[in-house]
Amino acid sequence: MTPSPPDGAVSPLGQPSVVPASGDRRGYPAPAHLVFFHGPMDCGKSTLALQVDHNQSRQGRHGLLLTQGDRSGNPQISSRVGLRREAVEVDVEVDVRLLVRDRWAAGHRVDYVIVDEAQFLTGTQVEQLAELVDESHVDVYAFGLTTDFRARLFPGTQRLFELADDVQRVQVEVLCWCGLRGLLNARVVGGAMVREGATVVVADTAPAAGTATAEVADDDAGVRYQVLCRRHHARGQLGPTPTGPGQLALR
Ligand SMILES: [Zn+2]
Repeated sequence: MTPSPPDGAVSPLGQPSVVPASGDRRGYPAPAHLVFFHGPMDCGKSTLALQVDHNQSRQGRHGLLLTQGDRSGNPQISSRVGLRREAVEVDVEVDVRLLVRDRWAAGHRVDYVIVDEAQFLTGTQVEQLAELVDESHVDVYAFGLTTDFRARLFPGTQRLFELADDVQRVQVEVLCWCGLRGLLNARVVGGAMVREGATVVVADTAPAAGTATAEVADDDAGVRYQVLCRRHHARGQLGPTPTGPGQLALR
């Protein structure tokens, strides 16, 4: 049994908790938090998002799940380990404050918001999330990629770095082919790493039996992404698997 804190209690360390001990906090002055979890592809962000949702739900709290450009093509948060939950797809035009207020107006509770693929948020939408936290005491947990294939922060990620109460790198280790920690996403077209093009090209990473690994998945356009260490990202070296032993994929 987890004892409930007294009304208005904040954690002794003043830190946001992924699993609050209390239930609905809207009636309390306790602050809500904007927490951002980030990492490269395949580091387990969507899985963690669904785990946070599960933990919150078990506390009797009600969540609203948002996503953008979901890899399944349906409005849901899906993870490569097979978990999935329905979510609301938000495009760049959506005011997330109105989304939550509409839920309230319809009689639904929203105690927390989970945003997957948060790198695709606009700066304005991140500011809207911060307002939900500060003015409406809704906890927001955002999950997204750190950098694009050019090793630059996504706009949504940058604004979350600037505004979030807490920023955490997802600790699940993703390895480069060389065995070093994978930090950066490479865009691969026709077997070669590219450094130019639109920031957002969402590859279909639905599992294809026998072909797609966790790190490598092709879509119809032949665009795929691969996680590399910083050195091999800089060199454009994709490793022996896609290009053959000893071959360098340089462009
Ligand atoms: Zn490497």
